[in-house]
Amino acid sequence: MNGKQSIYNLNREDLLKWAKANSISSFYALKIWENLYRNKFRSFSDMSDLKTDIIKLLDANFYFNTLEIKEVQKSNDSTIKFLFKLEDDSLIETVLMEHKFGKSVCVTTQIGCNIGCNFCASGLKPKMRDLKVCEIVSQVLNVQKYLDENLKEQITHIVVMGIGEPFDNYNNLMKFLSIINDDRALAIGSRHITVSTSGLTPQILEFARENIRANLALSLHAPNNELRSKLMRINKVYPIETIFEALQEYIKITNKRVTFEYIMIKNFNDTLQNAKELADLIEPIKKFAYVNLIPYNPVFEVEYERSTDETIKNFFDFLSKHKIRCVMRREHGSDIDAACGQLRSRYIK
Ligand code: SF4
Repeated sequence: MNGKQSIYNLNREDLLKWAKANSISSFYALKIWENLYRNKFRSFSDMSDLKTDIIKLLDANFYFNTLEIKEVQKSNDSTIKFLFKLEDDSLIETVLMEHKFGKSVCVTTQIGCNIGCNFCASGLKPKMRDLKVCEIVSQVLNVQKYLDENLKEQITHIVVMGIGEPFDNYNNLMKFLSIINDDRALAIGSRHITVSTSGLTPQILEFARENIRANLALSLHAPNNELRSKLMRINKVYPIETIFEALQEYIKITNKRVTFEYIMIKNFNDTLQNAKELADLIEPIKKFAYVNLIPYNPVFEVEYERSTDETIKNFFDFLSKHKIRCVMRREHGSDIDAACGQLRSRYIK
């Protein structure tokens, strides 16, 4: 794009700095900002409240990156999965989910993923690159555009749980959060934003000190190192005790709860002994813990199976009896390629 960058790479602070360096007043910089995110203009020339020389300057320096919709899959439960094509032809997935409390969008932060969880379609392909800020922001804007055109509803929640390890693209993640959280942009409250990590402890500690107090979820999936290392090779770098030490510190700093994601896999991590190990592990931070039991969504390429409903219920009952706050998460889009990376993996060799 002739040395131009996407305007969606900038947060409000960046835009104000750029405006100041170009002798544009903060009054006009804020108009530009609101035109982007409140009025949702996709062209500078549509911003009729700006002076012509500002529009020319914007055009000379920035452009609007695009995401092309390659496929949209709709599930019977209103989950909608988007396969987007980026400007370099890479493919990414974004998922829109319906809940009682609103509409959430699950965004992707990387093309492929190096964490290598062996239950995940995305982990089967190595990371090609990190997504730019504009590519993460555009997922939300494009899904909102789809909602505006089809359902006239608003995105209320963001979960950063799509393809990739968000903390492995930390700076871009944080800039993205600052844009969607901005009260003059998309204004999605930090309590409505959740970032999920496989357990990169240095970034957990960094995240604890950020101004944006988004929620943290840990993909735990096993109650001990032996099982977890079989599922997630990252556990050999950051074993459970190291992660829990970081979580204790995170809780001390933020006073916020942590959600533990636990995928229920048949005859692997779903026995009552596993439930007891999990309860023991969480016991010291029980007051701040919340467990999400997730029925495993089978991925064609791997051999794991989903636990039975009865096993999940027994696991849930055990945790509840031990006063661990816990929920059996509803499956989203089980009739479509719902597991993270499944839709994309159909298109790539
Ligand atoms: S589950 Fe998440 S962190 Fe693990 S391989 Fe898949 S995308 Fe990466």
